[in-house]
Amino acid sequence: MSGRLVLVSTPIGNLGDLSPRAVDALRSCALICCEDTRHSGKLMSHAGISGVRLAVANEHTEVARTDEVLGLLARGLDVAVVTDAGTPGISDPGMRLARAAIDSGHAVTAVPGPAALVMALVISGFDSTRFVFEGFLPRSGRERAERVAEVAAERRTVVLYEAPHRVARTVTDLATACGAHRRVALARELTKLHEEVWRGTLAAAGDHLAEVAPRGEYVVVLEGAPPPTEADDEAILAALHMALQGGDDRRTAIATVMSRTGASKRRVYDLALTIPR
Ligand code: SAM
Repeated sequence: MSGRLVLVSTPIGNLGDLSPRAVDALRSCALICCEDTRHSGKLMSHAGISGVRLAVANEHTEVARTDEVLGLLARGLDVAVVTDAGTPGISDPGMRLARAAIDSGHAVTAVPGPAALVMALVISGFDSTRFVFEGFLPRSGRERAERVAEVAAERRTVVLYEAPHRVARTVTDLATACGAHRRVALARELTKLHEEVWRGTLAAAGDHLAEVAPRGEYVVVLEGAPPPTEADDEAILAALHMALQGGDDRRTAIATVMSRTGASKRRVYDLALTIPR
């Protein structure tokens, strides 16, 4: 009988959010993989858990920890994975251990709980029936420009993570790509004493961030792009140019732009014909 790998969600700020099931899972496993033993050690003390070994499995060491984890699972022992905050595998380590355990035929389960993206989405007020989680944008260069353009064209609500010292820059880039009037929610310090959600347009968000000197952790929730209008030929052409410059062949570029803009194949195809080869 093999053991189970258990991805355990932990608080994103408020220790009261550690669930009884999380405590049970952490108490009864043979090993707790974590990003930082001091940080998670404090959580264990708070939960009254002692005698369970903590081992580092951070973004650099997660793969190196795999053999040991698989060995324990093969012996029928459970292994827990936690991160510094929230749900493992969400912009955090956990995914590679889960993949390795699945590939080796072991059971993988989770104790669900806090995740900043879910909380920010549901309190943003934007459409939560369909949404996209972008995590952290690339920091610079072409990769960032392409992802910002993708986010701007996205019709569903988009959730982004951002560090406080980069949030103003991200809001500025989004305003350039989406237009100043697109609405955004800046969810900050969730579940903590200074929890705050600022809601308004991207232009006003830029002004707000210039005033407050951002501090704490931020989730940026961006309203989805409005449906394209008949007058949007220019935007379709710009998207076609971008896809072609990004290395797409014409057929792929047309398909990509159709799905991003919702425009018909005929229309995108006709506009593509106006671009010289
Ligand atoms: N695994 C975590 C989760 O489930 O949300 C995310 C970890 S990721 C390394 C850290 C980012 O999550 C932060 O930069 C911030 O964007 C977001 N975050 C985490 N805790 C938060 C909080 N209390 N309030 C707002 N954002 C938070």
